[in-house]
Amino acid sequence: MKKMTLIFSIVAVILSGCASVTGVKEKHSGEKEKWGYSKSDGPAHWKVFAPTCGTGHQQSPINIVSGNTIAMNHQYDLSLHENVDSMAKIVNNGHDIEVIPNHAGFLSLKGEKFNLLQFHFHGRSEHTVNGKRYAMVAHMVHQDPITKQYAVIAVFFKEGKANPFLNTIINNVGKTVEVDPQNLLPTNTSDYYHYLGSFTTPPCTENVQWYLLKTIQTASAAQIAHFREYYLNDERPIQKLYNRTVQSN
Ligand SMILES: [Zn+2]
Repeated sequence: MKKMTLIFSIVAVILSGCASVTGVKEKHSGEKEKWGYSKSDGPAHWKVFAPTCGTGHQQSPINIVSGNTIAMNHQYDLSLHENVDSMAKIVNNGHDIEVIPNHAGFLSLKGEKFNLLQFHFHGRSEHTVNGKRYAMVAHMVHQDPITKQYAVIAVFFKEGKANPFLNTIINNVGKTVEVDPQNLLPTNTSDYYHYLGSFTTPPCTENVQWYLLKTIQTASAAQIAHFREYYLNDERPIQKLYNRTVQSN
């Protein structure tokens, strides 16, 4: 749809002959609105153009209080099915480092397929667990192509042993390389916290299934520093839980 919109915009510009190429670019990026994490365009400002960010009662991230969780009635294996090495674009999208694979398999939740669309990194974890913020987090964004519902897996990182997979990302920002997203996941993908939340960035879309893996991955101090060279303060503040419950296994 966006591509079509852009094509129509370009055609309109050519026909009208009065707008610059820059104007087209601005118009295109304007679809997403300019936002960031500073005082002038940060999280408190997002509701101006994305109302759900301000009014939603299902927002993310949250602080997980492990003592307040309830036992869950499922334990999915959150590893990727039909896993293939995939050519992936590694981009600095202006908000985080994002990896967009061509075809990267899917999650199976209650028999429904959720395709992996992209994964990206935050310079510190957005969710906290018992008030603890992790050194870094990867968010793996999946979508059910039929219901359009999203499911996001959070992989937390603490400082420790270097993670070879992260080097592939760090060394190839701006390039297209072969990436196996399965390598981002810990061996144990069956223990997690689960709740219903939202995107942590505009438009703060709700009804997102969150799965926060309990197995913590490691990244070296140098690797964490590398990601933070791009973005350090790209975490949305903790949101209210309202009447939601968090499940745990
Ligand atoms: Zn994220």
